[in-house]
Order: sequence, then C-alpha cells, then structure tokens
Amino acid sequence: MRTGQINVQTENIFPIIKKFLYSDHEIFLRELVSNAVDATQKLRVLSANGEFKGELGELKVEVILNANEKTLTIRDRGIGMTADEIDKYINQIAFSGAEEFVKQYEGKEGAEQIIGHFGLGFYSAFMVAEKVQIQTLSRHEGAQAVQWESNGSPEYVITDIEKADRGTDIVLYISEEAAEFLEKTRISGILDKYCKFLPTPVFFGTKTEYIDSPDGELDENGKVKRVSVDVPNQVNNPSPAWTKAPIDLTDEDYASFYKELYPMSFEEPLFHIHLNVDYPFNLTGILYFPKIRENVEVQRNKINLYSNQVFITDSVAEIVPEFLTLLHGVIDSPDIPLNVSRSYLQSDSNVKKISSHITKKVADKLAEMFKKDRADFEAKWDDLQIFVQYGALSDDKFKDKAAQFSLVQTTEKEYATLEEFKELVAPFQTDKEGKTIYLYTNDQEAQYAYVKKAKDRGYKVLEMNGPLVPHWIARLEQDMENVAFARVDSDTLDNLIKKTEDIVSKISKEDEEKLKPVFEAAVNKEKFTVQMTALTDDDAPIVITQPEFIRRMMEQQRTGGGGFFGAFPEMYNLVVNTNHPKVLSLLEKSEETQTETVRQLADLAMLSQGMLKGVALDQFIERTIAQIS
Ligand code: ADP
Repeated sequence: MRTGQINVQTENIFPIIKKFLYSDHEIFLRELVSNAVDATQKLRVLSANGEFKGELGELKVEVILNANEKTLTIRDRGIGMTADEIDKYINQIAFSGAEEFVKQYEGKEGAEQIIGHFGLGFYSAFMVAEKVQIQTLSRHEGAQAVQWESNGSPEYVITDIEKADRGTDIVLYISEEAAEFLEKTRISGILDKYCKFLPTPVFFGTKTEYIDSPDGELDENGKVKRVSVDVPNQVNNPSPAWTKAPIDLTDEDYASFYKELYPMSFEEPLFHIHLNVDYPFNLTGILYFPKIRENVEVQRNKINLYSNQVFITDSVAEIVPEFLTLLHGVIDSPDIPLNVSRSYLQSDSNVKKISSHITKKVADKLAEMFKKDRADFEAKWDDLQIFVQYGALSDDKFKDKAAQFSLVQTTEKEYATLEEFKELVAPFQTDKEGKTIYLYTNDQEAQYAYVKKAKDRGYKVLEMNGPLVPHWIARLEQDMENVAFARVDSDTLDNLIKKTEDIVSKISKEDEEKLKPVFEAAVNKEKFTVQMTALTDDDAPIVITQPEFIRRMMEQQRTGGGGFFGAFPEMYNLVVNTNHPKVLSLLEKSEETQTETVRQLADLAMLSQGMLKGVALDQFIERTIAQIS
C-alpha cells in the first residue's frame, strides 16, 4: 500500500468540481461510461494491430447499481491500468490554471461540456460520490491488479488487490446529497440521454428475475430458496444509422432510426439528408426534415449533437444557422471544440465551416429533389415552404440557391417557380406603369368573392399563408424588379391592376356628393373611409377593402416588427360602386328609403367580408326575416 497526494496545481480542485455544475451533476455518468467505452475501444485497436494478444472476451460495459450498499459501479473489460498508469493518468491532473478557468465559466451555459474535455472527466465522480475506488487489472500479461481509493480530498491510497478479470471497475460510494443517483429510473434516464448510441454495448440492470439461489440456500420449507437477481438490459445501440454508409441503409432504416431518436413523435419526417464529411473536418450525421406547419417553436432544437457517439447537447444553435434548428436528427463531430464558451463557438473557423457545409448540403438536397421528381417536391411544398422561406430570409447564400426551387402556388393548385410565375402572369397582370401585380389570398374561404372576381378576369391568384408570409413577400418585392404583391381584398381590381384610364362614372359629381353622406352615416367613420368609385356594373354595389399598406403594417406589428408604439388602427375603405344600378336608383328615392337601402347594402358588404358581428348582425337577421313573406 502507498499513499500520495493527487497532483493538482491549484490548492484543492475538488470543492470546485463539486459545486461546478450544480444542475448538471448527472454528467458524471456520461464521463465514466464513455471512459469505459474508450478503454474498450482502445483494447480493440490494440488487438487488431497485434499489440494485444490475449482473449478479448465479451467486450461490454456494465453499470451496476447497488442501492443497499449505496454504490454505483461502472465496469469495463477494456485495457485496464497498472499502478504506474494510474499515477500518470489519474494522479497527475495536468490542468493548469484550473481555478481561474473554472471561475471564468462557473454557472455559464455549456460549462458541463467543458469538464469532460479538460481531462476532468473522471473527477466529475466526486460531484456525486463521497468515496471513489478504481479497481483495475491491466491488459499486460502478469499484471498486478490494483485499487486506488480517494474520498475527495487530494489524498489517495493505492493497494494491491485480487481481480480476476481484465479491465476496470469504478466504484462510486454515492453521497447523501446525491441519493437520487441510487434510483434505477434516474440512472436509466441518464443512460438513455447520454449513452444511447455509444459504440460498445452498455448494460444496466433494470429488470428483476427470480431464480433458484445459486448457493443452494434452503428456505423454511427445506426447498431451494428463490432469490431475486437483476438481469442487465442493454441500454444502447452501438451502431446507430448515422455511423453507417448511406448505401447500406434503406428508407425504412432511416425511418426507424427517426423513431429511435424520437420515440414520442407521431409524425414521420418528410425526408432526410445523410451527412458524411472527412475533410477539412470530420462530421457525420443524419438530418430529417419534419413537416412544419404553423408552430415553428415546438419543432425547434431537436438536433442532437454527438462527439464520437457520446451525446453532448441538444442545443445546437451556435453550430448551425438558426433556420436549420428547425431540422431534426443527429450531428456527430469530434471537431467541434467543446472546451470553449458558446459565444466563442460561433466564431470558431471549424464551426463556421461546418455550418456553411450543412447549409449547402441542405440546399443541394432540396435542389436535387426538385430536379429529380418535381411532382413529389410540389406535394411536399406545403410542409417545406416555411423552412425554405425562413432559410432564404435569414441566409443569403441559401436564398440564392433556393431561388431555383422556391415555389408559389395558385388557388388552382398550380405550382410555379418565381421565374415561371413571372412569365406566366406578366402579359396579363402588368399595369400601365409596367409593374406586374401578384394577386394573393391568405384565406380562400374568407376572400372568396374577391378571388372569384379576379379569376373571372383571367388573373392568377396565389395562395400565400404561413407565419413568414408578410416578411417573405416584402423580401421578394425587394429582390424582384417591378413586381408588387397585393392581397385580393386590398382594393378594387381596377385599382390593383390599373390598365386603362378610369371607368366613366354614370352619375354627376354633384349627385355623388349628395349620396356620399348617406353611406358615411351607415358606417363607423373612424374605421371606414367612403370612396365613391366608378366600377363596372357587374361589380358589387359596395366593396370593402383594406389597403395593402395598412394591413402589412398591422401584420408586421403582430410579428414584432415595424417599430410602432401602440396599436396600429384598423382601417378600411368602403368603396361605393357609382355605376351599380342599386346605387344609381338611390337618387330617386326618399331620404328614409335611401338610409334603409344603404344600411342593407353596407351590411351585405360587411357580411361578405366576415365583418358583420354582434348587434349589427342580429339586427340584419331580424330585418331580413321581416322581409320574408
Ligand atoms: P479524459 O478521459 O478526458 O482523458 P479522464 O479524467 O476521464 O480524462 O481520464 C483520465 C485518463 O484516465 C484517461 O485518459 C485514461 O487514460 C484513464 N482512464 C480513465 N478511465 C479509465 C478506464 N475505465 N479504463 C482505463 N483507463 C481509464
């Protein structure tokens, strides 16, 4: 037996380690299990290159929980350590300026990742254990098994022990405060989170079985006693899909790997991208495109970041551009530096390369799908468009690439690229100033009458909805020359696409002035501006429109842009068609009949916009019933 002092360069690192990451104590298990896996992998390598000539045996890692003795053991059949190696790898913590470093990062996001990558992995055991033993037998022939023991003070004791099997047991005597780590469900939860795809089989006893007592012990009836034993279950899949070659995987394999990643998900992804880079950085992974409809936030942050199959984090915001956080799946890269702060990550050149590589891959995949099977791409477009718009709005490189597969969709379910659409409508929907007007609706039901009118004229109406549409439209207008978007109900068609000179009004200016106040009296003046306009006589007598500009202001305000204080007032135009026979005939009517007729016409216009509500709606119904004979 010999004792010594753990060689730390600061006074005492253990108190610092212990409180390092109060909320993330659970990562000790990731550190110890991945050390065990590393030791196993190293032995495999040594065996493969002939340096290790012994029997490999069953290479597995076991996590053994003994709640009675309050221990948690991590056991491997890996390379093991000699007393000298313990001295070198465990006792000498080559860690300069530890305290300074720890102070700098204490409590900061991502600090948990730093521990593991500064060679402090093993010592994280002291976050949960009051005593730790390493019992190990080295792979070298004739090696003496040794035990290292420490209670968290810098003193340790090394003794020779008997140990039959090659490899290492790390025995943690779980402290009072960390009693949660003596619960099976807690441990299996942690293993599932961090160890699910480690490359060596990992077992944890989570299933109890009753067997005859192995020592033949007898019960009170003189029969062999039945005892309970823990049957270890394998907790990981050592060769997850992303580590395989795409050529060896079927669509079903990708689908079932998605299920493996997200057992709680009911949705199936639209398609996937298999990433595989080995120069200038190492990166593998599979990214899945989920169906994205309305709620962007719930879909976010599902990408899991791994480093050599060890789970690191599910928050990859610093590693991929924001719009890519909508994707699901796995990225595995040992080249992402984890020993730096998160803000530094973003400026790291490897991370930048990784980020732009992924962006490019995603754009290429979409372009390839579009080229290969356009009908299929169109069928997926509803689920894809938010992603593509988000990407184009936030990343110029992506936008340039996306131009070739960004689609618009008409109310007739025809799809066109922006380029194609322009060619299609420019001959018909260009106004006298040379501007091509893209008419759109965001709700075909609500804007039915307007859509129909436009279609009757031979115009194409785009269907544009989704949370990003206001921003998307603004961007397209900025990028395309001489194109303006207008929602079908934002003005009368003749005003939206002004082609010839104005239509001649059938009533005189004086008569118009006489009628205008009658209409003004019928509506809320704060909200509605009455416009006496000569439309064609098959247009409705009154049309309610909301100017494109005002609506966009309101939409932008709702999505947090625009920079206004207070609410932007709701404003509409009440466009009176002075050429409509019902309007013309008002001139011959008594004041009372005029008021009644205008009331009815205005209510009908409101009704067609879905704006007739409350008392007004009730009175309208009463009046209409009274008129039925
Ligand atoms: P890191 O794993 O980052 O090097 P650790 O503190 O976790 O830092 O481990 C220090 C060293 O101790 C390892 O590099 C390895 O050489 C040795 N070691 C730790 N655990 C084991 C084990 N289960 N089997 C063999 N060697 C181990």
